[in-house]
Amino acid sequence: MRPRAVITGGAGFLGSHLCERLLVEGYEVVCLDNFRTGRPANVAHLPEIGPFRLVRADVTDSVSVPGPVDAVLHLASPASPVDYLRWPIETLKAGSHGTLHALGLAQEKGARFVLASTSEAYGDPQVHPQPEDYWGHVNPVGPRAVYDEAKRFAEALTMAYRNTHGVDTAIMRIFNTHGPRMRAHDGRVVPTFIRQALSGQPLTVTGDGSQTRSIQYVDDLVEGCLLLLASRHPGPVNIGNPHEVTVGELADLVRRLTGSASPVEYVPRPQDDPSIRRPDISLARRVLGWQPRVQLADGLARTIKYFESVAAGG
Ligand code: NAD
Ligand code: UDP
Repeated sequence: MRPRAVITGGAGFLGSHLCERLLVEGYEVVCLDNFRTGRPANVAHLPEIGPFRLVRADVTDSVSVPGPVDAVLHLASPASPVDYLRWPIETLKAGSHGTLHALGLAQEKGARFVLASTSEAYGDPQVHPQPEDYWGHVNPVGPRAVYDEAKRFAEALTMAYRNTHGVDTAIMRIFNTHGPRMRAHDGRVVPTFIRQALSGQPLTVTGDGSQTRSIQYVDDLVEGCLLLLASRHPGPVNIGNPHEVTVGELADLVRRLTGSASPVEYVPRPQDDPSIRRPDISLARRVLGWQPRVQLADGLARTIKYFESVAAGG
C-alpha cells in the first residue's frame, strides 16, 4: 500500500514542489488549496507523476479527507509580506483555525503532522544566528504580527496537540526560500529583483540595503522537509541556508547573473523589517543529517532561468 499524504497549500510555490517530491517517493498525494496565492497550473503536471488529487478547499472552514492518511503537511497561508499585508485577517485565520483543522485531521487519522512555520517566529532577532531555543523578538501589534503571531500561535497549538492528544507532530522553521513557480509579482525580494533585472527596471532595494537574509534554494528545503517527515523529531527545526548576504549584495548578484544594466533604486524600508537573519542549523545537521547543498549563485541562476522561460512563454 502506498502511504498517503495531505498537503494544505499544496498548489503554492513550496507546496507544489513538496507534492511533486512526495509523488516521486511513492506517496499518494491529496492537495487542499483555496488558490488565494497558489494556482492549479503549479500542480497541473503532477497526475503524470503519480496518484494526485487537487481539492479546492479553504482550511479556515474545515479540513476533511476521506480514507486513511499517513502524513499531513500544513502549508496553507499567505507567505509573502505583500500577500499577508493584503490579507491580514485571512492570514491570522489560516494560522489559527487552519492549523486547528489540519491538526484535527492528523489526530483523527493517526498521521504524522508537519507545520510549515517560519524564521519570522524570531521576528527582528537580537540573537545571531538564530538557534531554535531563541524565543524571538516580535512586535505583536506591528503590521507583520498578522503573519508572525499566526505562526507562533500555530506552533503553540501544534505542541498542545502533541502533548494533550499524542499527535506525532513536527515544527519546521523555514528560512527565505526561492525557486521556480514563485510569482513574479509576489513582492518577495528574489522574484522582484529578477523580474526587475530581466525587464531593465531599477532594482528596488529597501533602506540602505544593509539588512541581511540567508536564502536557500527550494530543493534543499524539500529535502529537509522530507527528512523531518520521515523522522520522529518534534522540532522546531530550522531549515535554511546559513550563507548570509545583505540585500544590497543580493541586488548586485542578481544584476551580475542576469547581465542586467538596471540601476539600483533605494526605496523606504517597511516597518519592522528584520535587520538580520541567519539560521543556526546545528540541530538539522545533528538530528536529520541535513544541510543545504545548493550554493546561492547556483540556485539564483536556476530561478533566473525559470523566470526567463516564463517571460519567453515557455
Ligand atoms: P505560497 O503563497 O506560494 O503558498 C501558499 C499556499 O497556501 C497557496 O497555494 C495558497 O493559495 C494557499 N492558501 C492560503 N490560504 C489558504 C487557506 N485558507 N486554505 C487553503 N489554502 C490556502 O507561499 P509559499 O512560499 O509556498 O509558502 C508555503 C508555506 O511555507 C507557508 O505556510 C509559509 O508561511 C511557509 N514559509 C515559506 C517561506 C518561503 O520563503 N517561501 C519561508 C517561511 C515559511
Ligand atoms: N526587499 C527589497 N526590495 C524588494 C522587496 C524586498 O529590498 O523589492 C527587502 C525587504 O525589505 C527585506 C528583504 O528584502 O529586507 C527580504 O524581503 P522579503 O519580502 O523577500 O522577505 P522577508 O524576509 O522580509 O519576509
